[in-house]
Amino acid sequence: MTNVVILGGGLTGLVAAERLALAGVTAVVIERESEPGGACRSFDMEGFTFDVTGHLLHVRREETGAYLRELGIWDRLAVHERRAAVVIGGRTTPYPVQINMGGLAPEVRRDCLLGFIRAWCRRDEGGGSAATFREWVLERFGDGLARHFFFPYNTKLFRAAPEELSLDWIGRYVPKPTLEEVVDGALGLERRGVGYNAVFRYPARGGIRMVPDAVARRVAGLKTGVAVTSVDLERRRVTMADGHAAGFELLVATISLPSLIDLLTGPLPEEVAEARRALRWVRILNVALGVEGPAPSAQHWLYFADPPVPFYRIGFPSNHGRLAPEACHTVSIEVSLDPGSGDATAVAAEAEAAAAAVGLLDREKIRVRMVNVIDPGYVVFDHRRRDAVAALRRFLGDRGVIVAGRWAEWKYSAMEDAILDGMNVARRIAGEPGA
Ligand SMILES: Cc1cc2nc3c(=O)[nH]c(=O)nc-3n(C[C@H](O)[C@H](O)[C@H](O)COP(=O)(O)OP(=O)(O)OC[C@H]3O[C@@H](n4cnc5c(N)ncnc54)[C@H](O)[C@@H]3O)c2cc1C
Repeated sequence: MTNVVILGGGLTGLVAAERLALAGVTAVVIERESEPGGACRSFDMEGFTFDVTGHLLHVRREETGAYLRELGIWDRLAVHERRAAVVIGGRTTPYPVQINMGGLAPEVRRDCLLGFIRAWCRRDEGGGSAATFREWVLERFGDGLARHFFFPYNTKLFRAAPEELSLDWIGRYVPKPTLEEVVDGALGLERRGVGYNAVFRYPARGGIRMVPDAVARRVAGLKTGVAVTSVDLERRRVTMADGHAAGFELLVATISLPSLIDLLTGPLPEEVAEARRALRWVRILNVALGVEGPAPSAQHWLYFADPPVPFYRIGFPSNHGRLAPEACHTVSIEVSLDPGSGDATAVAAEAEAAAAAVGLLDREKIRVRMVNVIDPGYVVFDHRRRDAVAALRRFLGDRGVIVAGRWAEWKYSAMEDAILDGMNVARRIAGEPGA
């Protein structure tokens, strides 16, 4: 029987182990935190429940729904129609802004609409040659939306200039409207239900950890509270912070790609070391607050493009889940940070002050606070990423290592993808056709 070790007990690693068990393969899952779930964990504090950061479930594939039913949690997930907005120049308009310019200040709306129409006309003359995110936005949306939203928002989120970003990540994440939709929106005719996250599911009670917890209950070989400290691909074994070692025939890594490379023992070929250095990412700091009184906004979340506001998004999770005691609400503020350490407490305080300044937080009423840093948070899709990831995957694949999940594959993906990635790993190892 194949001896499989899985690095990381987040959703990807858990699903892989759970599906492998069904195929008769027992895998050992090694997780450094004291509980499984990774980025999908939740914490209870004085009657409030906080997710590591806002996590909403988008189910697009029948296979995912069937899996969640099999886990017995499908009926415990409530369905919500997204209420999201964008704030530009202090004015709030529904998300996505490209089809909802009606709420913007007249001069900003004029810039955005004229820019879009000009870009639309140019496109009919034969466009489509963009090689960078900057060129793509100008080509698709025009210079007004670029200047007022896409450039400042994405620079804040990815901490990179728009010309530094490739087009590899856009896929389903940026809604691409028609001229009619844009004109309707600018005239104030709101369009609803656009974009990949128009409808989402969230536990009717408790936090998002309900999903990884339901999987973890079925995983016999889960080892928590112990970090893997080195990976020896020659001798086929991992060592752990508690001094123990585990041998493997097959290694599945769901931990981040740079951290996996850093754990490898022995010298690396220069091409691999160079590819590792090329990987770029941001950390995400999430300030989760339990606050007295009703939420100051009915939105589920709001995106902030304006550069002086340090956060890129603020959400009110208790608007979609039972996450706060009676007459209280929860707030989630997300700030993007460069890699490294840095003073999380100071950044969190600054983010709270900014949330208060835009009228979305009464600091006097804060009852509890939890600050998390997700590292890595978002992969930065710059122009070196694709080749660097290919080189690293080749190197690892040649040595019998399977990488799976958002951070191991060094991509942009969601919980549903983590579930599907985990299933695919199990199919591949169990030798199922189509894997
Ligand atoms: C800011 C943000 C918001 C998001 N919002 C959403 C959303 O609304 N909806 C959605 O569907 N998805 C969302 N996602 C994506 C979602 O979190 C991921 O797709 C999913 O959690 C990936 O799971 P994973 O198991 O691949 O990774 P992880 O959850 O990171 O699991 C990897 C595990 O490896 C462990 N580990 C790391 N190093 C070691 C080590 N040395 N030894 C042992 N264990 C180790 C970690 O502790 C972790 O538990 C969001 C992500 C971010 C960053």
